[in-house]
Amino acid sequence: LDRNPANHVALTPASLLARAAAAAGARIAVIEGDRHITYAQLYARCRRLASGLAALGIGRLDTVAILSPNVPEMVEAHFAVPMLGAVLNPLNTRLDPATIAFSLAHGRARVLIVEAECASLATRALAAFDRPILVVAIGETGIVDALPYEALIDAGDPDYAWVGPADEWQSLCLLYTSGTTGDPKGAVYSHRGAYLQALGNAVTFGLTDESVYLWTLPMFHCSGWSYPWACVAACATQICLRKVDPAAIFRLIAEHGVTHLCGAPIVLSMIAHAPVADRVAIPQRVRCAVGGAAPSSTIIRTMEELGFQVLHLYGATESYGPATVCLPQPDWADLSADDRYARMARQGVPLATLEGVAVIDPTTDRPVPRDGAVVGEIALRGNTVMKGYLGNPGATAQALAGGWYRTGDLGVWHPDGSVEIKDRAKDIIISGGENISSLEVEEVLMRHPAVMLAAVVARPDPTWGESPCAFLEVKPGAEPPSDQEVIAFCRERMARFKVPKTVVFGALPKTSTGKIQKFVLRDRARGL
Ligand code: ADP
Repeated sequence: LDRNPANHVALTPASLLARAAAAAGARIAVIEGDRHITYAQLYARCRRLASGLAALGIGRLDTVAILSPNVPEMVEAHFAVPMLGAVLNPLNTRLDPATIAFSLAHGRARVLIVEAECASLATRALAAFDRPILVVAIGETGIVDALPYEALIDAGDPDYAWVGPADEWQSLCLLYTSGTTGDPKGAVYSHRGAYLQALGNAVTFGLTDESVYLWTLPMFHCSGWSYPWACVAACATQICLRKVDPAAIFRLIAEHGVTHLCGAPIVLSMIAHAPVADRVAIPQRVRCAVGGAAPSSTIIRTMEELGFQVLHLYGATESYGPATVCLPQPDWADLSADDRYARMARQGVPLATLEGVAVIDPTTDRPVPRDGAVVGEIALRGNTVMKGYLGNPGATAQALAGGWYRTGDLGVWHPDGSVEIKDRAKDIIISGGENISSLEVEEVLMRHPAVMLAAVVARPDPTWGESPCAFLEVKPGAEPPSDQEVIAFCRERMARFKVPKTVVFGALPKTSTGKIQKFVLRDRARGL
């Protein structure tokens, strides 16, 4: 039989909201403080916003940028903009004005939606931007000529007959990478990819219409790992949180019966080491997905011992957030606790909606054997890999060489099909011709009882070329151990050539998405 054209509709995440409103209109979709928005209201508000933007001449493939913390309007933008077939460009609120201005110009933004908290940043960015742009203000921004967001909603049509993209491969989102590896590049998502990623995320994380998802991840980061769409696919409730604050996290978990949250390892670490006075007993099961950087087995263990159920996800901006999941296996029940947590720190297998993951030998371009030993580059392929980088064919061709997204992460492939990252290519330390995985050394350092965070980078060494240099942040109230004690601790637990030769204590520099800035530490190590 031929394809039935009547049933072939373009996949778009916007349709997930239409369905949720019809299926669960009275259910609470989004909460912020005292604001409770039902699915029926959310859909009506998004249609109003879409119609308002359409009336201003915004349509297919126009870029709508947004500079906002996690607030309901951020969720709305993830649906209203796709309804128009326009392209949403969530901007990192912690970047400098020049980088924001760069993104606006590079992405040819026609609209900038600004939340009051980001008013000063937006004002400075706009001063460095010389094209006409329509500013829409959420709350009081003081930006001259800005259109109030609520005025746009009030004047909009709650029954707006949106049509969405011309086809499902049309661009949906533009996301600039956080720049830990150089100039920002704008990864472009399609409607089809985001739709599938929403379903893949919902299934992987076990989201249902009874789930309550807490936003401890910035929504501007890979579109919140695609969770705004995943939660709506499941008719779950989303609780907005502007800033990661452990006391607020514990309070909201108890107050709203939160069942799911996501965060980088650093967020888990903040939760795990919150002062006792900030903690509240949590009656329900809370699933906590960790990703964005490698979690140590220690942080996974600490969270599980606190009563959270940890799920390890791995992915990148280029893969709409999570691409693989560390799926627990039945035989793990027989392992010691140490071994089980070490397994949970592996990056795992592809999400159901990704075609595949592979570990490729960079010299032969062939997959490495699945022996858990040979190191290669992790690559991803499928519908949930970006279309490419906007206006950057060179970087696109390089990133998507051979049809696979080359992640720049080095890892091994285990016989059970799971992948395990050993390091980012540029973070690996080469000492006396031997490769040292910085993650492996950090994993050991994190087991030291006084250590809260560890980052190991290469330091130039006259004898060995490079040697491992450890930067350590101690737990609140803990006495820093001596350098010698740390080195002795490592010697007992790893090959001698991997043991850090230098140990430095102090706060670690972090990116806006909670990743440790190893390039800053490498500079520091060079200057030691
Ligand atoms: P940036 O490349 O600017 O840091 P991304 O958020 O796209 O921005 O980062 C993706 C990278 O983060 C991955 O390629 C990988 O190096 C790292 N990463 C993400 N999740 C994990 C994880 N679970 N384990 C190890 N590394 C991870």
